[in-house]
Parts: sequence; C-alpha cells; structure tokens
Amino acid sequence: RIAYVNGQYVPHDQAAVHIEDRGYQFADGVYEVCEVTGGRMVDERRHMARLVRSLGEIRIAMPMSLAALGVVLRETIRRNRVHDGFVYLQVTRGVARRDHYFPDPSTPPSIVVTARAADPRKADAQALQGIAVITTPDNRWGRVDIKTVGLLPNVLAKQAAKEAGAREAWFVDAEGRVTEGGSTNAWIVTQDGKLVTRQADNAILRGITRTVMMEVAEKLQLRVEERAFTVPEALAAKEAFVTSATNFAMPVVRIDGKPVGEGRPGPVARALREHFHETAEIAG
Ligand code: PMP
Repeated sequence: RIAYVNGQYVPHDQAAVHIEDRGYQFADGVYEVCEVTGGRMVDERRHMARLVRSLGEIRIAMPMSLAALGVVLRETIRRNRVHDGFVYLQVTRGVARRDHYFPDPSTPPSIVVTARAADPRKADAQALQGIAVITTPDNRWGRVDIKTVGLLPNVLAKQAAKEAGAREAWFVDAEGRVTEGGSTNAWIVTQDGKLVTRQADNAILRGITRTVMMEVAEKLQLRVEERAFTVPEALAAKEAFVTSATNFAMPVVRIDGKPVGEGRPGPVARALREHFHETAEIAG
C-alpha cells in the first residue's frame, strides 16, 4: 500500500509524520472519509466543501488548491488499486514545537491521504441482519459539526458498544434526545412513515450521506423531519437506521438490547440503501 504524506507517495508501512505534528500533540486537525466505488469517489464535491468548512472553522489554511487535492486523492486511489473502498484525508496545523498557540503562519499544514479496499458485499450482508446500538451520554464538546480528528469520546463510546455486543453507540444529550452515532448520523421512521433525523446544528456532524439520503427520500416521496428524537421514540418507531459514507443506510434493530419495531430491518432503510448510489454524485 501507498500513502501520500506532505508531497510524497511513500510505502504505507513507512509513512510517518513528526512527533511534534499538532495532529498528534493536540488533535489539531480535520479529516474526511470518502467512499470509492468502481475506482471513483462518491460525493467528492460535498466532502471537499465540508473539508474547506472544517478548516475554516479552526483557521487552518487550505494546504493546496481543491484541484490539486483532487489529483492527490485520485492518484492515491490509483496507486493502491482501490476499486471499492475508501479514501481518507487528514490535514493538521503542521509541525511546530509543542505550544498551544498557533505556530508561525509560515508553518505548512500536514496532509496525509490513504486509500484502502473494502468489500461492499460485507456491508450488504450486515444490512440484511441490521445492527445493535447502545446509548451513552453525549459528553463531547459543543462544535462536533467540525470534522476534527479529536475523536476520543467517539472512540470510548464505540468501544463500549463493541464490548456490549453492539456496532454503534448513540450519543444522547442532557434532554434525553439522540444527537448522533459515534461515526454515523441517526434516523428513525415513525409509525406514520415519516423520516426523522436531528437538525444539523453544532451538536452533530452534517453527514454527507445524511444530506444525500434526504434527496433519496424526496425521490421516494418520503417525508423528512429534521428534529431531535428520544430513545423511547426510537424504540416505538417502525424502523431506525444510521447513515455514513462507510455504511450508507444501515438498519438498527436493537437499542440497549430492546428491539426497534419488530426487531428486523425494514423496507424504508432498505429502499434508501438501494437507491443511494443513483442519487450520490460519482464523478471521474
Ligand atoms: N457523525 C459522525 C460523528 C461521523 O464521524 C460521521 C462519519 N464521518 C458521520 C456522522 C457521517 O458522516 P458522512 O455521512 O459524511 O460519512
């Protein structure tokens, strides 16, 4: 495997950044994960727009033009011969002696790009079963709309899920409402067939898959309500599911060990999953 690190393509097992990289010292950086299908990126334009926004919110300069970045992403995919899988991009505030204040503006941001293959049939098989989730208090900071590499609460929540035999953890705010999953957005289908997912404010990441699924829902003539829902509401729902670039729409069949609806994947999540790639932008 090959990784792109600060201007060079290097063997993945030798790819490294300096110990004084601010990503390592302070989690002072942002990232994107983009699905690759048939060797092509899915929703590249939206992922790049979100990257630009994340960088702007934490005041890191764009390390290169979007066009140049596109070339690097494509080249990394090509060099790794990824047909189906993911491309990962991380930008940090660069390497400087450890000090909380921003480094000198001349410090170049660090960029890392990796790509790896993933068998889409595995996710499809999982979608037929559905997944279990646990719930956990949302103890994250107030700007999780920025896609930073500071993911410790997410790591701890997802590990707790794994140890409980579940795949994902749903964060629940102080009012008892679900914000999102550790690495996914959370949705329910109400008994009267409405899709509900939390409004994209500072308390969730505005998932690209979430945005595209809203368009898919519109095509399927499903109504979408952007509002928060509680765990009891999710348990009483017809269906629940999560969305992300790595999961598309993944049915949730159990929450904290209790079944959602009939405890089986439902038709709405299946339809959204099936129609996702015709609505997503997949460009050369
Ligand atoms: N929320 C969080 C916390 C995430 O990490 C992710 C995945 N990056 C998502 C939601 C889903 O975002 P997307 O659909 O853009 O993958």
